[in-house]
Amino acid sequence: MKKPTGKVVVIPCSGIGKVYGALARETAYELAERVRPDTILLTCLPLVVVGDEQAKQLVTENPVITIDGCPMKCAHKSVESHGIEVAQSYQSISFYVAHKDLKPEGVTELDETGRKLAAVAADELAAVVDSLAGKEPK
Ligand code: SF4
Repeated sequence: MKKPTGKVVVIPCSGIGKVYGALARETAYELAERVRPDTILLTCLPLVVVGDEQAKQLVTENPVITIDGCPMKCAHKSVESHGIEVAQSYQSISFYVAHKDLKPEGVTELDETGRKLAAVAADELAAVVDSLAGKEPK
C-alpha cells in the first residue's frame, strides 16, 4: 500500500451509454468539487491506458480509487493492467442497491434523483478518501 500523500486520485470508468457509468462519473465530480476538493485529483482513464506521463505520475505517486459503472470493472482492470495498485474499487450500482429509493435515470446526463444518489455516494466515500490521504476525518 502506498504511503499517504494528502491526495487521492479518483478514476471513474468511461461508461458511455450506461446510467451507472454516468453515476460513476458524477460521483467522482461530487468528490472532487464538493466533498473533498482539497484532496481529490481526477484523471481520465484513457490517459492512464495510453501511458500519458502526467497521468502515470499521478497514479504512481498517490493512492487510487476506481469507480466503475458495472461488474465489467473497466477502470479497475485497466489501471491494474498497467501495474498500478488500486487502493479501493467501487461499482456505482452498489450505491443504488444500498439506496433503492434513489433510482437514477439518464445516460448522457443524470436526472435529479441520479445526481442526489451521486451526492450520497460521494458523502459515503469521504471517510475512505480521508483515510487514504492520511488526513483526520472531517
Ligand atoms: S465498467 Fe461497465 S459502465 Fe463502465 S465502461 Fe466498463 S462496461 Fe461501461
